[in-house]
Amino acid sequence: MPELFIAGQWAAARDGRTREIRCPADGALVAVVDEAGPDDARAATAAARAAFDHGPWPHTPAADRGRLLLRVADLLERDRAALARAESLDTGKRLVESEYDLDDIAACFRYFGALVASGDGGGRIVDTGDVPADSRVVREPVGVCALITPWNYPLLQTAWKVAPALAAGNSFVLKPSELTPHTAIALMRLLAEAGLPDGVANLVLGAGPSAGAPLTEDPRVDLVSFTGGLVTGRRVMAAAAPTVKKVALELGGKNPNIVFADADFDTAVDHALTAVFLHSGQVCSAGARLLVQDELHDRFTDAVTAGAERIRLGGPFDPEARSGPLISAAHRDKVEAYVAAGLAEGAVLRCGGRRPADPALARGHYFLPTVLDECTAGMSVVREESFGPVLTVERFRTEEEAVALANDTVYGLAGAVWTQDPGRAHRVASRLRAGTVWINDFHPYVPQAEWGGMKQSGFGRELGPSGLAEYQETKHIWRNLAPRPQGWFS
Ligand code: NAD
Repeated sequence: MPELFIAGQWAAARDGRTREIRCPADGALVAVVDEAGPDDARAATAAARAAFDHGPWPHTPAADRGRLLLRVADLLERDRAALARAESLDTGKRLVESEYDLDDIAACFRYFGALVASGDGGGRIVDTGDVPADSRVVREPVGVCALITPWNYPLLQTAWKVAPALAAGNSFVLKPSELTPHTAIALMRLLAEAGLPDGVANLVLGAGPSAGAPLTEDPRVDLVSFTGGLVTGRRVMAAAAPTVKKVALELGGKNPNIVFADADFDTAVDHALTAVFLHSGQVCSAGARLLVQDELHDRFTDAVTAGAERIRLGGPFDPEARSGPLISAAHRDKVEAYVAAGLAEGAVLRCGGRRPADPALARGHYFLPTVLDECTAGMSVVREESFGPVLTVERFRTEEEAVALANDTVYGLAGAVWTQDPGRAHRVASRLRAGTVWINDFHPYVPQAEWGGMKQSGFGRELGPSGLAEYQETKHIWRNLAPRPQGWFS
């Protein structure tokens, strides 16, 4: 069966091109899927435009849209096992992590479904005083949305966009990462099963320049919501500029994890490991920069190094594995280059820094959990997103210095502070220039609270009420209740 989904029909790529999807854990062929080109992207855009301009979805009562999203959440829960397996085969991530992701994905559909199922469209009545008029502010869908997603959390990032876009009444073209298409294909089936009208949801698979760029340039697209790397984000923003599309960008991070000497030692060590080594560091909010107060530095770095050395690598279905492979050979090359650059610039290798010797892992794109000590702010491995299992350790003496080091980055996605002093925790949290700050924790998020970056980590918000607002236009409707001539020009 072909894998592009356009106007409610499954379609093959117009020029017949396909792509092999291989599991990063062992290189095994997962499937061969259709590879869309610009003509397919344009056909999908036309379908989404027609569904928005002439179809029922934008005018379906919000309560009914909400109910459909709740049905999708039920279907996601029904298919949890198969979807988690598909996600793990495409990404190489541990099955248990894909299962957690599926729970978050269903929760996301439930959250946005419930938000609009109440029937409260988010509008308000304006008080006009003595003026005889009705003044209403209403929320309307933006129109056709291009939703472009990365490979690290394929269905989760998709859910963060698809659920609010549909809740608000938009139609969309989804372009997932070319490396991880399978759960996006499955989601199209579930949306159709839940009763979404044809043409509201469209899917093109394929490479960014050929399948994604045409969406960002097309005048029929009203909004681009993009999650991915900083360099691509700049391109997307530039491509959307000539037609002044609404743009939301969720880009990378180089997130500081600040540990003060009074932190709960064991808990902070445990979380410092999860912060950076979860999903082999391929997490936008990964705590890849560890900043440790001087007097704790040696003991803390020793404990983190010992923890990193204990992490067992393995494929998605290896129950003993605690972390998996990188997404591709090219990505592993990039991570290796960052480690080499860090060492050349004076970092001290505490562990890892190479591929595992285990022959059982030789066919996958594995890289050992790596700790680089004595790092400084100017190193490229500290400044840029390696997006791999690489922790850099820097020292600080004072609170002032910790905040300055933490903020010394173009990124501003997330960060954490560990201390038992509540005053300090709140001072530091309020001074960190990041969209999310955790105190004595790392990585939790909830669909009720907004997610997004400051600085070059992007703009626009996902999740929470502002996540819905990203997909809404605001319109003021004024009705004169006593119209009569004004006499200015007549
Ligand atoms: P990427 O930028 O290479 O690709 C992201 C998506 O953009 C893919 O679907 C790709 O095909 C598409 N694309 C590439 N070129 C394009 C173009 N010219 N026009 C339109 N689309 C194009 O990113 P990636 O390697 O897939 O993902 C990793 C990055 O994503 C990391 O930087 C990570 O920090 C970031 N990320 C951010 C968040 C967040 O919430 N801020 C979440 C997850 C991942």
